[in-house]
Amino acid sequence: MSDKKREFPVSKSEEEWKESLTKREYLVLRKGKTDPPYKNKYYHFEEDGIFKCAACGNELFDSKDKYDSGSGWPSFTKPLKEKAVDYRDDYKLSHRRTEVICSQCGSHLGHRFEDGPEPTGYRYCINSTSLNFEERE
Ligand code: FE
Repeated sequence: MSDKKREFPVSKSEEEWKESLTKREYLVLRKGKTDPPYKNKYYHFEEDGIFKCAACGNELFDSKDKYDSGSGWPSFTKPLKEKAVDYRDDYKLSHRRTEVICSQCGSHLGHRFEDGPEPTGYRYCINSTSLNFEERE
């Protein structure tokens, strides 16, 4: 779960990531930085559609699973498909957290907590910068 050498279907060098992402996207997606709470583009956002990985386009979350957690970050009860995301143990703070990454490119998305609403009980706390919204067709 914490293997840094893992291979992902979408794989780029650090230089290539820097070129294909904005500075902000690079810091969040590739370096694990966190968006400021409340002041991020998808926190107060209620349009109907799909959120894709801002690094590789993988379809990650459905707006139907989005809810207002009061946390300041976009929150979802589950990923669009189970295999859309993957998990890694994160020990950056004093306690273990479950990091959520894109299963296609390994980019950092956010964290999963166990204080979410039914039916899953999960709160996927995701950075707006890691997402690109696409309206439902
Ligand atoms: Fe991705």
